[in-house]
Amino acid sequence: MTAEKRFDVVVIGSGPGGYVACVRAAQLGMKTACVEKAARLGGVCLNVGCIPSKALLDSSEFYDMARRRFQEHGIRFQGLEPDLAVMMARKDTVVRELTENVQKLLERHRVLVIHGTGRLTAPNRVTVDRAPPETGSLELEARFIILATGSEPVAVPGIPLDGEFIVTSTEALSFGEVPKRLGIVGGGYIGLELGSVWNRLGSQVTVIEMLPRIAALLDSQVSRALERSLRRQGIRFFLESRVVEASVEKGEVAVRIQTKEAEERLVFDRLLVAVGRRPLTRGLGLEALGVATHSQTGHILTDSHYRTSVPGVYAIGDLIAGPMLAHKASAEAVACVEAMAGMESEVNYDAVPAVIYTWPEVAAVGKTEEELRHLGVPYCVGTYPFAGAGRARCMGETEGFVKVLSHAASGRLLGVHIIGPRASDMIAEGVLALECGAKASDIGRIMHGHPTFAEALQEAARVATACAIYGKD
Ligand code: FAD
Repeated sequence: MTAEKRFDVVVIGSGPGGYVACVRAAQLGMKTACVEKAARLGGVCLNVGCIPSKALLDSSEFYDMARRRFQEHGIRFQGLEPDLAVMMARKDTVVRELTENVQKLLERHRVLVIHGTGRLTAPNRVTVDRAPPETGSLELEARFIILATGSEPVAVPGIPLDGEFIVTSTEALSFGEVPKRLGIVGGGYIGLELGSVWNRLGSQVTVIEMLPRIAALLDSQVSRALERSLRRQGIRFFLESRVVEASVEKGEVAVRIQTKEAEERLVFDRLLVAVGRRPLTRGLGLEALGVATHSQTGHILTDSHYRTSVPGVYAIGDLIAGPMLAHKASAEAVACVEAMAGMESEVNYDAVPAVIYTWPEVAAVGKTEEELRHLGVPYCVGTYPFAGAGRARCMGETEGFVKVLSHAASGRLLGVHIIGPRASDMIAEGVLALECGAKASDIGRIMHGHPTFAEALQEAARVATACAIYGKD
């Protein structure tokens, strides 16, 4: 094997796990290659996930605000209408620019990008089937191999995906026209975000969810508030309901659902299946090499340094257990590479923020009230409504609240849950406070700019502090 084909690290996949691992490895002086089968770098997140969905959420939110809120601020106009083609083109530009940035970032760090499909053929060897215009295959040798191939949507028996009428999130990010009636199977964050986009643009959106509540991992008080808000915006929900069968008939999707009470038949123009994602391990050559995976979920099993059961082979991101989130993949990428280089590095899985970019936004970090009750941890709750924050009043965005959970005896912060304007940015303070082992009283005491949304977090922390001082009752 020639020296050009020999690397310190070969990373398979260029998503937020893969490309961040490449950059960190290069920064630490390792000769690095990145193998990516798609034409564009950046993975699901940049191409068909976080970024295009947020671009559409932002555009549709502006439209919705102009339609429903501007008059209250004294702004009048006529002839307001969305231009879907322009919205989609703008989204595509945002995606293109960001993926090009990843390309430049890797070039700047002298990471060799190889376009093709990679698979493990020996513990220290990756075979790449080159993508056109290249042909043939390439053998790469590496001291360390990092698997970062991400995840793919889960299909549901009885709901045959056809890419046109019955679709995944990928196609729902690029509909050519606004579907009059959009059905969504799954009330998780992807279904709710895309449901919000199309609802704002004029679709009648119906969400069918098997569990008794939407976004089931959220604190239940927050998830109930989100459901109420989305219902007010016109989204219909069938909870504790299961899709039995879906079929395309004369350009419509006929869906049979089983609710708690009865069986119903619904008809949509498009049906989005968003019931979750599973690790993308197919074709990676794991079985032949003996890389252990979880028997039920299919996740690759790793230790705390992201080492798989095969020496020299590592895995990160959506491929391994934990929340399927871009920032979690990137944090693991850094910790994985630093551990390879003998540095002390770890990811704190107790402080992973989660955000849902609906309006109002939802953001959370740490334990929910249900989890604390289940664990038997004595806790205090402090809540504060945005209606009490001056800035929220100025903007006319008073929906929602902040909820702070702290230990009843020590006052240490255990969780922060926000539903309301700019929750996605506010949660960073909660993450920092949790990471630093802060108490609710610390957040209550530090100065927050006035008037800001963050004052609601400060006030909620003060309420939780008072509970810790005076006792829960
Ligand atoms: P990926 O981003 O999936 O990247 C894997 C890469 O590996 C891909 O480019 C793929 O082409 C490549 N690949 C796969 N197999 C091979 C192979 N054999 N050879 C070569 N290359 C291969 N997360 C958030 O944190 N915030 C959000 O707002 C958010 N929104 C989302 C919205 C949607 C609609 C979706 C679907 C997901 C969203 N996510 C969000 C989740 C986020 O996209 C993933 O958690 C993240 O992309 C995982 O990163 P990764 O590096 O593990 O894998």
